[in-house]
Amino acid sequence: MRALFCPHCGTRLTEKRIGDEGLVPYCDSCKKPIFESSSVCILTMVINELNEVALLKQNYVSKDFYVFVAGYYKPGESAEDTVKREVFEEIGQTVNELKFIKSEYHERLDTLFLLYVSKVIKEPFVLSFEVDDAFWVKLPLDESLLNQKGVALMLYKAYLSYDETR
Ligand SMILES: [Zn+2]
Repeated sequence: MRALFCPHCGTRLTEKRIGDEGLVPYCDSCKKPIFESSSVCILTMVINELNEVALLKQNYVSKDFYVFVAGYYKPGESAEDTVKREVFEEIGQTVNELKFIKSEYHERLDTLFLLYVSKVIKEPFVLSFEVDDAFWVKLPLDESLLNQKGVALMLYKAYLSYDETR
């Protein structure tokens, strides 16, 4: 998102040429560049020791399809902290191990998705109020459970083509 005003002091931004970045939005009163950024969201498959993945039903997202754990990055966290926090908040599982798969920019949402696989030891689900239901489903998944245009399927396909050995 391109800011018109400085988020620190409210001054209208100008532009300044900085190194090889070219012209960037600049605050003349704070004397610093204000870089543009998109929202950052983590999305993770949560897989237990029985090779089952957690599928979530979130009616505010979709009444027809299932999704994986997702959540927005908060300033001050590492992306890995965000994954662990969201997995615990949404379904009450503790992440023991996590793997970064890839990132994908989603144009309509202006959001950078960071795609992970989280490993847990299966525990009873404790659902947040944002999650209407959750199930453990044996892998590989029936892809028709996921929205064909959604980010969950994007992650599932990236997971299938991920080379564990690299
Ligand atoms: Zn400023």
